[in-house]
Amino acid sequence: MTYPIQFVSLGPGDPELITLKGLKALRDADCIFCPETLNRNGEVRSRAADILSGVGIIDESVIRRFRLGMSKQRAEAFTAYERVYEQALSLHLEGHKVCIVAEGDAGFYSSIHYVYDKLKAQGIPVLHIPGIPAFIAAGACAGLHVASGEQQLTVLPGTTTAEELGRLLGQENAVVIMKLSQCTDEVHRFIRLHPEHTYHYFENVGTPDEVYLNDSNQIASIRFPYFSLLIIGKSTISHA
Ligand code: SAH
Repeated sequence: MTYPIQFVSLGPGDPELITLKGLKALRDADCIFCPETLNRNGEVRSRAADILSGVGIIDESVIRRFRLGMSKQRAEAFTAYERVYEQALSLHLEGHKVCIVAEGDAGFYSSIHYVYDKLKAQGIPVLHIPGIPAFIAAGACAGLHVASGEQQLTVLPGTTTAEELGRLLGQENAVVIMKLSQCTDEVHRFIRLHPEHTYHYFENVGTPDEVYLNDSNQIASIRFPYFSLLIIGKSTISHA
């Protein structure tokens, strides 16, 4: 008997934000591939492992950690993903129940999708269990109506520029910027040029280090860490 390899979305940080379906798959698994990173201080961190531990999954014989770099140099990450692919595939072929976890939703700016696509291309059964993306949890944490009525919402990666933001926010629309640390200067510049918008800044949503700021001067003067995002809209964004 073989089981599909399940890509389980963990939500953004709060263990209670994992779905029942995801939790069931994890509790049933023989093997869970879980990413970890080395931070600038040389410490190994795994937000995914913290979430697993928060739902009582701590068995080191089940959890297989793999190391990822958080930098934009993805070559190193793809070597790690190749290894996950090979190990997950052989465990699957031996009849094990394999899960691969990702923070937020596993299909939303999640590079682990590379492994999903590669397995699928080889005809291996895969299943993506959806989860709550960080920006949705962020909106809830500040009580925002992130998009309303006929408003359009654009989600941007950290490659955006002040000019692009100006175009997108010209109407009554809203923008979410992910991977904020990659476009700090452009975002600071845009905020200084456009005090008329409302800025909601979030860091480490769903963890004990959660930060929420809506003072634009303050947001325009801080360095953004990796786990941060920004929601920009008209002032009605929080009340519509
Ligand atoms: N799959 C994730 C997104 C991964 S891309 C999801 O569904 O949300 C990584 C980016 O997501 C980070 O740079 C940051 O912008 C955002 N992010 C992920 N978790 C976060 C958190 N807990 N708090 C704030 N931003 C977060």
